[in-house]
Amino acid sequence: MAQRTDVFDLAALGLTPGEGRRLDLVVGLDPLDFGGETYAPEALVPARLEVSKMTGGGYALRLAFAVVLSGPCQRCLEAATPRVEVDAREVDQPGGGEELRSPYIDDGELDLAAWARDAYALALPTQVVCREDCAGLCPECGVSLNEDPGHAHEREPDPRWAKLRELRFE
Ligand SMILES: [Zn+2]
Ligand SMILES: [Zn+2]
Repeated sequence: MAQRTDVFDLAALGLTPGEGRRLDLVVGLDPLDFGGETYAPEALVPARLEVSKMTGGGYALRLAFAVVLSGPCQRCLEAATPRVEVDAREVDQPGGGEELRSPYIDDGELDLAAWARDAYALALPTQVVCREDCAGLCPECGVSLNEDPGHAHEREPDPRWAKLRELRFE
């Protein structure tokens, strides 16, 4: 696989205003802590970067990639491998005001590693599960309800009935 790209030199593309380029790159991602667990993404991920030079100067960018995470299911703790799809856009227009500056672009250089990391963190699901309908663990004894769907506990008898049973009728 190709080398990972951490910083991409946009200026070196030599685009003229209105011109665009589509590039296949490799981004690097680090493991992350999420909900008290550590999740490891694939270390090297193929990514598609689209660069357009805007007619008024500056760049419009789009970054897309998909990554498979591995770590424990947050319901049943078995291995989970959710696929996370990332599709992010950035605009950087010098002179266009604060909101039109991208934090990832500085002087024609794109901080691809930082952008990929942030876009990926935003695309994470709210909960990592091994499968959508994971039944999780029994809250009383911790048994996996995926493996034992009929699992149930005898209801504790009402203590008032226990008292009644102690009574003896002669
Ligand atoms: Zn699960
Ligand atoms: Zn149980």
